[in-house]
Amino acid sequence: MIKVDVVSGFLGAGKTTLIKLLLKAYENERVVLVENEFGEIGIDGELVERDGFDVFEISNGCICCIMKKDFVQVLARVIEEFKLERIIIEPTGISILSEIIDILRRPEFASQCLINSLLTVVDSVNYLANMILSASFSKIRLPMPPCWYSVKAS
Ligand SMILES: [Zn+2]
Repeated sequence: MIKVDVVSGFLGAGKTTLIKLLLKAYENERVVLVENEFGEIGIDGELVERDGFDVFEISNGCICCIMKKDFVQVLARVIEEFKLERIIIEPTGISILSEIIDILRRPEFASQCLINSLLTVVDSVNYLANMILSASFSKIRLPMPPCWYSVKAS
């Protein structure tokens, strides 16, 4: 079975840093990184490209919605063409992860892939500011856990 790790998180949370560490930890495995950029230029893709790994970049939209078809095609292609041991998927910071999991659970992928880990990287220093920013952006009223008040008070 091909192990699949999904590394999610806001833009700038530190996903690339974690992926670099994962790539080092898995240096004896054949790994493909499927990277999803919301914009056109994939700077992150260049940062993590190195010997022994293949990077597939899907840009101009996120793989949970408008680029879903491309994502399915890339997954099918890498599974068929590479003798893979692991796929690392880095969705955009705004992807809906359950959509990605649904794709991985489709019979054609579930028969060959095992969801090994679902990781979300959080920039703990800027977490509160990011949550407030994204809540005002999406007009959602946040349920505030009690710990937030103690964080603000300190
Ligand atoms: Zn999406």
